[in-house]
Amino acid sequence: ATPMSIMTATGRGAQMGVLIKNAEALERFAKVDTLIVDKTGTLTEGKPKLASITTAKAWQKNDVLCLAASLERGSEHPLAEAILAGATERGLDTSPVSDFEAVTGKGVRGMVNGKAVALGNAALMAELELRSESLEQAANKHRDNGETVMFLAVEETIVGLVSVADPIKETTSEALKALRKLGFRIVMATGDNDRTARAVASKLDIDEIRADVLPADKAQIIKDMQAHGHRVAMAGDGVNDAPALAQADVGIAMGTGADVAIESAGFTLVKGDLGGIVRARRLSLATMRNIK
Ligand code: ADP
Ligand code: MG
Repeated sequence: ATPMSIMTATGRGAQMGVLIKNAEALERFAKVDTLIVDKTGTLTEGKPKLASITTAKAWQKNDVLCLAASLERGSEHPLAEAILAGATERGLDTSPVSDFEAVTGKGVRGMVNGKAVALGNAALMAELELRSESLEQAANKHRDNGETVMFLAVEETIVGLVSVADPIKETTSEALKALRKLGFRIVMATGDNDRTARAVASKLDIDEIRADVLPADKAQIIKDMQAHGHRVAMAGDGVNDAPALAQADVGIAMGTGADVAIESAGFTLVKGDLGGIVRARRLSLATMRNIK
């Protein structure tokens, strides 16, 4: 690549809301055939809101939400924010938590009022060897709406679930359609439940879903695809996504996301609008043509 054409391209990219870190990223992007997208904060707005509370017999919604919010005070996850905001809106106070532990990709746990309490996904409940048939059914109803479900366990019983909703960004649908037309295979990778992932994907042009992915596994998925001869770009926003962004041939961070994601990426979409990937691809192809 000539320095001039690359300089022109990075300047144009910036005007279009795409920050291009270096010439290599732009060159590599012309060869990418697979685009992996994180769900939360990348396809969706990343500002989940409390959507529902379901309780087991003899439990009140406010008590379930109170315990959930108490645990989430120790977490920095976007889901924690949604639950804390929900509790505040209802004027609920939280209780002190001891022995707090964040279980990566699964949830949170600790002691509240002398009782062992845990909040998280089905994998966390499985780890605790807890099940609730009726709450599992309620969970599926919310998952089919695209909501993220978290179960609350107190000692040996699942006493309720909370669900949060995170709307798809206005710009996502059109961007994915255009990216498919440009020849990308589009894969969604998410730590969220498979059913929730499918409900979100059903509204979008997505070729493949990898759900229930632990944070450490996103980079491995990319490695495997690369080993099969694919050139892979990964779009993500979270601290969790940084290793995958670094592993990808081209990492694409949301400017609205975590700093470490931005540092690990070759491109940054200033406003987190996936339409920036479409513009970057056209720019990348045009730049490569000029060089040849
Ligand atoms: P994502 O790909 O959405 O960033 P994570 O790997 O962070 O997913 O989390 C996967 C799942 O683990 C979440 O969908 C949620 O069910 C559960 N989880 C993670 N962190 C928390 C938390 N702080 N509170 C409750 N549940 C959590
Ligand atoms: Mg995310």
